[in-house]
Amino acid sequence: MGKIAVYPGSFDPITNGHVDIICRSSKIFDKVIVAVAKNYQKSHLFSPEERVSLINEVFKDNPKIITDTFEGLLVDYLNKINVYVIIRGLRAVSDFEFEFQLAQINRKLNYKVDTIYMMATEENLYISSRIVKEIAMLNGDVSQLVPPLVEEKLKEKFKN
Ligand code: ADP
Repeated sequence: MGKIAVYPGSFDPITNGHVDIICRSSKIFDKVIVAVAKNYQKSHLFSPEERVSLINEVFKDNPKIITDTFEGLLVDYLNKINVYVIIRGLRAVSDFEFEFQLAQINRKLNYKVDTIYMMATEENLYISSRIVKEIAMLNGDVSQLVPPLVEEKLKEKFKN
């Protein structure tokens, strides 16, 4: 079966920061499951299906990377698929506090769960899905921040 890890998040939409973490993880693990959270409390620009299809398209040439969606608690999803390694990215100290809490809670909910953190690469340090959406909404250039396909979809979204 090999070593499998789950990279959970909103990915609304996937950015170069996420792509970097996924590519690097796929060199360490045999399989990386990019798990798109269907969180209906948050308002999203892209539907879970659109987010999954963008990720699939970006990684269509890398068979080690697969996508999935999950609802509810991440630990329940991990139990369901029987994978207990979570990957998360860290950009700044500000990410740390939240991620620290999240890792502790997930471990409390299931002691088998371990979270592995990867530092963002320098050129991606300031990229977040939120900032990308704001720039795209204001007709700014996001070509340095997201894959070309995502840039295209953002343009479509904000055309009207
Ligand atoms: P969430 O909505 O849970 O914050 P995201 O989709 O924004 O999820 O991000 C998923 C994971 O990717 C998080 O661990 C986040 O810190 C990380 N991440 C987001 N942007 C970057 C980036 N530019 N570089 C590295 N990691 C990132």
